[in-house]
Amino acid sequence: MELSTALRWRRRAFRWQLSAKLLVISLVVTVLAFSAVCGSVLLDMRRNTEELARQTMENLSATIDADVSRNVEFYDKSLQAVVKNLALPELADVSKPILQLILFDRATTAPHFGAIQVFDAAGNLSLDASTLKPPPERRDDEEFFKVHRDNPDVGLFISRPMLYQGGYSIVLSRRLATPSGGFNGIVVGTIRLGYFHDLFRRLRIGEQDVVSILTHNGVIIMRRPFDLDVVGKDVSNIAGVIKTLGQRSGWFSGVGLDDGTPRMYVWSDSSHPLVVLVGKPWRNVLSLWRKEAIRLGAILLVLASFVAGVTIFLIREIDRRARAEQRLEELSVTDPLTGLTNRRKFDAAIETEWQRAQRQQTPVALLMIDADHFKGYNDSFGHQAGDQMLIGIAVCIADSVHRAGDCAARFGGEEFAVLLPGLSAYAALSVAETIRGKVEQWSIDQTGVTISVGTASITPGPATPWSVLVEAADKALYAAKASGRNRSVVASSTRELSLVA
Ligand code: GH3
Ligand code: MG
Ligand code: MG
Repeated sequence: MELSTALRWRRRAFRWQLSAKLLVISLVVTVLAFSAVCGSVLLDMRRNTEELARQTMENLSATIDADVSRNVEFYDKSLQAVVKNLALPELADVSKPILQLILFDRATTAPHFGAIQVFDAAGNLSLDASTLKPPPERRDDEEFFKVHRDNPDVGLFISRPMLYQGGYSIVLSRRLATPSGGFNGIVVGTIRLGYFHDLFRRLRIGEQDVVSILTHNGVIIMRRPFDLDVVGKDVSNIAGVIKTLGQRSGWFSGVGLDDGTPRMYVWSDSSHPLVVLVGKPWRNVLSLWRKEAIRLGAILLVLASFVAGVTIFLIREIDRRARAEQRLEELSVTDPLTGLTNRRKFDAAIETEWQRAQRQQTPVALLMIDADHFKGYNDSFGHQAGDQMLIGIAVCIADSVHRAGDCAARFGGEEFAVLLPGLSAYAALSVAETIRGKVEQWSIDQTGVTISVGTASITPGPATPWSVLVEAADKALYAAKASGRNRSVVASSTRELSLVA
């Protein structure tokens, strides 16, 4: 019954420790799981934000592209009509005003489009849609002239932005051919950069967003914000631009040419003569997401701190309780006066050691110690002095018993028991004599109290109860008392009882 109570205490303490570990593990796992969920939600949100920005930029790019392509193609149609009509033999004899009327019939008169001009094979201006008598003008040095002169298959050529007819323009040109296919000059039209400025003004474009319009050679012909250093620049060697010109639509992450700002660049259709690339700074793309991420991160941090705080508090509480219970358990097996093991624990210890000795066939020794004439001592010096004497005897006993498995206990009243597993009767007698000697030595100057010790050592048979050992030691003690006290007597299993000291 008493043994099972002790075991219950121990199991409960173990459960506390186990539950502390489980608590920590489950809280850490909860926080980690919550962090993982938040992380995945944030990643999803980031992907969605990027996708939304991509779509918005793609729409802007498509809008600009539609306007620019429509105008370029419309203007190119006029150039192609001039090329086609100039090849008609019927027009060879037509007067210049009529020729002018036929050729430039479809020439656009929109505000940002320049007058269509025709240059002969030598680069001299021969026809001008705006006047019947064009002033002398020679353009054989211009890139757009040389390109057509040297390559018959260029088709529509779009120049870099240049000062032309008094304003910054891009020049659109097509080749004129002789009936045999030889170079016969070029037909030229211009689109003023003002057209692009107007277009960009009409659209809602973010302050730090950039729009670049590129030719298929990778030359920037227009840009917002306008920058003369960037416009006209060949950027065909930039990885993102190579991707842009190679794929019909898509996006890439790049750094601004002038400000070094990391941006997301999107284009919607690169099949037209000009490609529109729209760039938005990543910090603007992700600004809302970042706010949300910081908010969620802060919530998570507060939650994790709270959980950590609660965990620490609970662990401390669990630890405190475990220690209190351990202390209680210790108290429940300790004699309050002497601090030695109490009778209950002693019974459990002798039971355990007795069983072990039965299994291993080793001896178990027991000393039964009793204070001599203690009643008289109490009567003479009082009960409290008697208590002090019992404490002193206990100290002498504890001082002499050191091995693991030894158990010194207060057996009851002024009686003590010392369990010495593995010791023979004579080895136990030596311990008994040590204790007796110490008590004698200690009390010699004070009260002269002595002790008598009965010693027994038995190697138990399988069915022998441990009470046999107690009885033997008791008998030896009785013998010690009977033979004059202040002595140790060993009980022998072979002889009846033998007085040794
Ligand atoms: P003997 O040498 O034959 O053992 O004589 P004794 O007087 O010691 O024998 P007895 O068993 O008659 O007396 C034991 C005494 O021990 C009686 C009691 O007053 C005293 N005693 C028992 N427990 C305590 C205790 O806790 N404190 C004190 N002060 N005295 C105790
Ligand atoms: Mg007694
Ligand atoms: Mg006594």
